[in-house]
Amino acid sequence: MHFTRLRLNGFKSFVDPTELVIREGLTGVVGPNGCGKSNLLEALRWVMGENRPTAMRGSGMEDVVFAGTSSRGARAFAEVALSLDNADRLAPAGFNDSDFLEVSRRITRDAGSAYKVNGKDVRARDVQMLFADASTGAHSPALVRQGQISELINAKPKARRRILEEAAGISGLYQRRHEAELRLNATEANLERVGDTVDQMA
Ligand code: ATP
Repeated sequence: MHFTRLRLNGFKSFVDPTELVIREGLTGVVGPNGCGKSNLLEALRWVMGENRPTAMRGSGMEDVVFAGTSSRGARAFAEVALSLDNADRLAPAGFNDSDFLEVSRRITRDAGSAYKVNGKDVRARDVQMLFADASTGAHSPALVRQGQISELINAKPKARRRILEEAAGISGLYQRRHEAELRLNATEANLERVGDTVDQMA
């Protein structure tokens, strides 16, 4: 499974619909200061489910919507779509019935984010899991931003382990374990309440 195309519309400085073809192998983005290199990387992270506005260099998620310039008005929404080649059928169950996947996220001012996979509404969690199981995602070490290499060299062992776990594709399993633990705790609390009720009736 690999990325083939990134489409942006109204996302940060990409006010007009823009399409980038992503070829197999390593992709580098070069250009003059302020041309939008970091915005592109952020678009990739965002469509994969990034939910921290600070990771988008904003104070709220709506800051990703084109804010307007002296010559152009602000946009009401931003949309990013990422196409994936799934010919190897390595996408997780539920998304594996097609050779191509298109994951999209759209944010509308005052209405929050909506995700789709191949045109069907899905939850943010479904998209995050799809990418986590494919050893990538919003926090993937495969997306290298400025200064990240020196951060990695100076990282503490625990932080380095998290990077290795993401690369190994097991971070989705940690999330599922956490959710299973929450369900287990809720069930134990319910059982206790049932026990109390049975005691009162005895
Ligand atoms: P550098 O090489 O200096 O790091 P860069 O190529 O990575 O620059 P970016 O940081 O991606 O550039 O883009 C910065 C540009 O994006 C700025 O001109 C900024 O005004 C613009 N920008 C960021 N957010 C928005 C927004 N919501 N609406 C409009 N323009 C935006």
